[in-house]
Amino acid sequence: MPSAEIIAIGIELLLGEIVDTNSSYIARNLRDIGVDVFRTSTVGDNPERIAIMLRESMARADIIITTGGLGPTVDDPTRDAIALAFGVKTVYVPELWDQICARFKRFGRVPTVNNKRQAFIPDGAEAVENPVGTAPSFIMHVLGGARVISLPGVPSEMEYLIQNAVLPYVKRTFSLSGIIKARVLHTSGAGESIIDDMIGDLESLANPTVGLAAKSGQVDVRITAKASSEAEADTLIAGVEREVRRVLEEFIYGVDDDTLARVAIRTLAESGKTLSIVEGGLGGALMREFADAPSVLLGGEMLSERPSAEALAVMTADLRKKRSASVGLGVTLHAGAQKQEIFIALSAETGTSNYTRPYGGPPKNAPVWAVNHALNLLRALP
Ligand code: ATP
Ligand code: MG
Repeated sequence: MPSAEIIAIGIELLLGEIVDTNSSYIARNLRDIGVDVFRTSTVGDNPERIAIMLRESMARADIIITTGGLGPTVDDPTRDAIALAFGVKTVYVPELWDQICARFKRFGRVPTVNNKRQAFIPDGAEAVENPVGTAPSFIMHVLGGARVISLPGVPSEMEYLIQNAVLPYVKRTFSLSGIIKARVLHTSGAGESIIDDMIGDLESLANPTVGLAAKSGQVDVRITAKASSEAEADTLIAGVEREVRRVLEEFIYGVDDDTLARVAIRTLAESGKTLSIVEGGLGGALMREFADAPSVLLGGEMLSERPSAEALAVMTADLRKKRSASVGLGVTLHAGAQKQEIFIALSAETGTSNYTRPYGGPPKNAPVWAVNHALNLLRALP
């Protein structure tokens, strides 16, 4: 399997003025065709520093993709940096200049002298036409070794060239026909370290791989398979999914696009249950989750104050009766000097139960955790 590195070029990236979304786009797309991305780096607009980084990457990887720095101004450094890394000059390619002029003409504009810089590429590079922008991109190879592909920084141009030039080129060059498929199992109710303890042995598998991602009050288990066909990937995934489910079944609430709220709503709707909500100090966060389910949510009370656990239980039971809902859910948050606590009340015909969940993270994330804990109780209702 070929390996790749990505180099994002631009001083604005280093200054934190823009976020490097290009690298993640490129990484995702390379992953999907079966290329291993081992490293991504960011560098400013200095040709020498870029050239050093390029040489390091070329010693390690089969494919290096750069983005940015192909514009027409003096401080657009990528052409010079690649020439420097390969020890060649940049050369003027008249056909590229013709393409640039033709493109300007279509927009009723006249290219400036600066734009002529964009018709220079490193000697020996293969030009790749860019029909969605003026900066042509290009591919340089070391004989029998690394291939460096330079793309513009403008995301729409970069994306177009990835889809229409780079991915076909990489697939062709490395005879890649395999696919990568992932399935995500969503869990709630157990922390990341507990999940990690329970399925740690699966996390060292090579194919499929199993990885964890923790979110507020939830942990995702991602199973990713490399295979030569979708059916083969499905079979590989199914085998590992069975193992994960055997161990984690009680915590798994859904797969792929499922969310806690959607699953909770589905569970209530399928069993013909209805709901009322009391929330204290959450700014409507729990009720908003039910905005698209008016047939399930019969009523809600949004309190700006935070009632005690006892008061919350009484209000939850009262509202449930008043609205004739089958289930009453109450949730509030208490932040003390030492610790924060989430109180949840669950009320039904048969009585009302109280739950307490400790919360140790940043206060601004507490409402999301409170909502997720409450939804998790709801989706697991008998
Ligand atoms: P241009 O011809 O437009 O100058 P370029 O190849 O020189 O193209 P840059 O000047 O580096 O590209 O970037 C152009 C714009 O694209 C930036 O102002 C920024 O908005 C966006 N951009 C550049 N790099 C990235 C990146 N890594 N992630 C997201 N956006 C980026
Ligand atoms: Mg530029």
